Amino acid sequence: MTTKTIGIIGGGQLGRMLAMAAARLNFRTIILEPQADCPAAQLANRQIAAAYDDPAGLDELAAACDVVTYEFENVPVAAAERLAARVPVYPPPRALEVAQDRLTEKRFINDCGIPTARFHAIDSQADLDAALADFGGQGVLKTRRLGYDGKGQKVFRSAADDAAGAFASLGSVPMILESFVAFERELSVIAARALDGKVRAFDPAENVHRNGILHTSTVPANVSEATAEAARAAAAAILGKLDYVGVIGIEFFVLADGGLVANEMAPRVHNSGHWTEAACVISQFEQHIRAVAGLSLGNPRRHSDCVMQNLIGDDIDVLPQWLATDDTLVHLYGKTEARPGRKMGHVTTLKR
Ligand code: AMP
Repeated sequence: MTTKTIGIIGGGQLGRMLAMAAARLNFRTIILEPQADCPAAQLANRQIAAAYDDPAGLDELAAACDVVTYEFENVPVAAAERLAARVPVYPPPRALEVAQDRLTEKRFINDCGIPTARFHAIDSQADLDAALADFGGQGVLKTRRLGYDGKGQKVFRSAADDAAGAFASLGSVPMILESFVAFERELSVIAARALDGKVRAFDPAENVHRNGILHTSTVPANVSEATAEAARAAAAAILGKLDYVGVIGIEFFVLADGGLVANEMAPRVHNSGHWTEAACVISQFEQHIRAVAGLSLGNPRRHSDCVMQNLIGDDIDVLPQWLATDDTLVHLYGKTEARPGRKMGHVTTLKR
């Protein structure tokens, strides 16, 4: 073991769970996050309280760490590159660049030989009107940058939906219009690539969203082995093309014939992989720490069927019921205020 201290950019629950996994393997963690007492810093060895793009904070992090990783995909690329000039940064900054822009991301995924929804780049209301006409009035308009959990999106279900003013209503920023995918279910795969190029994938999860936010992940997913294998193969192709190190989460739509359409990729541990901490010996968090620290990957085999459910906002009020439920791992994020839409924790129930 050569890596001793792992830097993590971002102080949310994903950073918190990475810090926990790192501690079990004897690594120290340092969190770069402006907000005091953030979920990750509560469990890490140290916090550098600075903005993600603050040069002094970044240089302090680089000087104190053997390797740096991140827990959210909107880390400024320039910040990751500044760090990468001083210390290894995994996943590579190129993965951030691809994942931060939905247009670049779709083109990249297609270049890997993986289908996505059809799409048009939208830079004006006129572009939108023309693109909607091409898609028969249906489609999903998304800002290219900074959209998450369904924010920065507008759905057009039929030609009767009024598109007037839609470009301005999402802020007149660069967007894409995606064709509307009539999917049967949503699937995600969490996979990891080690420094030596070895790839290992967890079983794909079937995801249900509510109000644009992940509600449940169920494993095994109700898909054929061929579909599950196609998801793993897609992940391997994406990881290889990026010369990636670490864990990635890739979301797909599953069509009626079992075909997969990739929706988006997150170059980090992913909410739809939280089930792995209860149903696998090696969680996605440990797998990521192993990868970025240059250790061999663990076996991602699943020992139990399970359902993970997010605790969002007031869901936290029924915590006593979850604590009384058999075979259920409760995981809370150390957030004191339960605002609507805020992820407070999650529970995973093993099915046996
Ligand atoms: P996203 O922010 O891209 O993950 O989208 C949030 C959710 O909106 C997805 O999980 C889908 O349920 C839905 N959605 C996004 N894009 C499309 C699409 N092109 N066709 C149909 N539904 C979509």
